[in-house]
Amino acid sequence: MLVLDQLGKTYANGVRALDAVSLALPLGEIVAVVGGSGCGKSTLLRLVSGLDRPTDGTVRLDGEAIAAPHEKIGLVFQEPRLLPWLTVADNVGFGLAALPSGERRDRVAAQIARVGLADKAGVWPRELSGGQAQRVALARALVGRPEVLLLDEPFSALDAFTRADLQDHLLDLWHDAEPTLVVVTHDVDEAIALADRIVVMRPRPGRVAAEIAVELPRP
Ligand code: ADP
Ligand code: ADP
Repeated sequence: MLVLDQLGKTYANGVRALDAVSLALPLGEIVAVVGGSGCGKSTLLRLVSGLDRPTDGTVRLDGEAIAAPHEKIGLVFQEPRLLPWLTVADNVGFGLAALPSGERRDRVAAQIARVGLADKAGVWPRELSGGQAQRVALARALVGRPEVLLLDEPFSALDAFTRADLQDHLLDLWHDAEPTLVVVTHDVDEAIALADRIVVMRPRPGRVAAEIAVELPRP
């Protein structure tokens, strides 16, 4: 269970980006966070990922306070953010340095195959299409087997066909281990297609305005 308790963030410039956000996300739930620009969605993901610290409140995963980047929490951004000087396989394996190299290679190869890019393991990021690069970002985030995967507008830079394809693919990947997914999106259709629950945010200060349970099963 991922629990956000009265989470708040005031930046150094005085902006109250997030205020009194409390959410309890059971393991395996898929949650979409929607709302216009500036309502604190990215701030929320940064706090949950441990990349930034809250001003007040706490984030707990299975009871453990999250205050720094954590191996159980994976992150995918709008841009793939691959390291250009590393091959696809080395990008995916980057966070697994602690594993013995044989196991690392097996895990990386399996995860790259799982995102449909077995033939791209040895290529450079610049040789990939936008959709392929984002598949690599998904592979890099999932190869560490996180309990929680945070995605910040993961498909919004892609064309409509690629976006639909990757939404389906994300659900396929989710079935492998059923991590908790938190997907920030501007796209209400995407939220409905993916999520069990939709959290609607409102700005100044960023707060949860509504939580909507999606009643129909995914198609
Ligand atoms: P969203 O992702 O919903 O667009 P953000 O979390 O990026 O919202 O931003 C929420 C508010 O916090 C906005 O008013 C934004 O300008 C402000 N903000 C975001 N990051 C910072 C920062 N590093 N320093 C100061 N203000 C920030
Ligand atoms: P070491 O020198 O520590 O043995 P290697 O580079 O030989 O490291 O192998 C481990 C790394 O190789 C992994 O991090 C993995 O990302 C990367 N790697 C390179 N090519 C491949 C490939 N085709 N399939 C899987 N992993 C690969």
